[in-house]
Amino acid sequence: MPAKPKLGQNFLVDSEAIQRIAASIGDLTGRTVVEIGPGRGAITAALAARAARVLAVELDPLLAAGLRVEFLLDPAARVTVINEDALRFDFAAASAVAGERLLVVGNLPYGITSQILLKLAASHAALDRAVLMVQREVADRVTAQPGSRDYGLLSVTVQLYGPAQSLFTLPPAAFSPPPEVYSTVFRWRFAPRFAELEVEEASFLRFVRTAFAQKRKTLANNLRAAGVPPAAVAAALEDAAIDPMARAESLPIESFAALWRSLQP
Ligand code: SAM
Repeated sequence: MPAKPKLGQNFLVDSEAIQRIAASIGDLTGRTVVEIGPGRGAITAALAARAARVLAVELDPLLAAGLRVEFLLDPAARVTVINEDALRFDFAAASAVAGERLLVVGNLPYGITSQILLKLAASHAALDRAVLMVQREVADRVTAQPGSRDYGLLSVTVQLYGPAQSLFTLPPAAFSPPPEVYSTVFRWRFAPRFAELEVEEASFLRFVRTAFAQKRKTLANNLRAAGVPPAAVAAALEDAAIDPMARAESLPIESFAALWRSLQP
């Protein structure tokens, strides 16, 4: 069956990498794992060997049918193949059925990486931790710290839902067909920080998007451009002890939170 580039079908063929991914999620004894985009089942089999249950969510109906056949004979019936768009998968319902927060593993279809990360963030209450393979540059942005070249909206958004850590990088030759980019596996532990930072989730996420709206502008300019009165911007920056010329790229999450709190009526 030829790979479909539009669905990001670059199948992992490096057996050592497959075992490393399965091991990176940690102890799977008695646990339910959701695999996003199981493809031909390379990682699925390694997960099924360790977990109580694997929910394999695959969009391509032909691959889903192939997986059903492959795992049909498993006497423990640990793999359930779900032919569905992972962006529509109901993690909360699956977690309720499992009676626990879920583990997530995926060599993601790179074209929809951001949407999947946002979907997982929105489903955080149902999730424990995830091990995901993405394009190397995306993992660099997800895990970046303030002041580094890669730090931006994606870093803050992901890290607001819990710590993210790069684990290892694979060359194109680890896949068939080989993609044009390197790939990095990272781990994300879901532990949302909104309560600790004393911010309201939806409003704070909008605020952070505004702060990063134009990379070349200062934070103050971005806030003023979004309609915050200049005097309020100046007062809030002073209150939060932030340099009036600072750019969003230099600020830790705690400073964004201090600024958001200062701007509340
Ligand atoms: N896990 C396999 C591996 O490592 O060899 C395949 C990984 S491949 C990079 C991405 C997989 O995601 C493909 O099987 C593709 O068909 C599937 N896929 C693409 N879009 C999807 C979506 N929206 N929901 C679920 N699966 C999707």
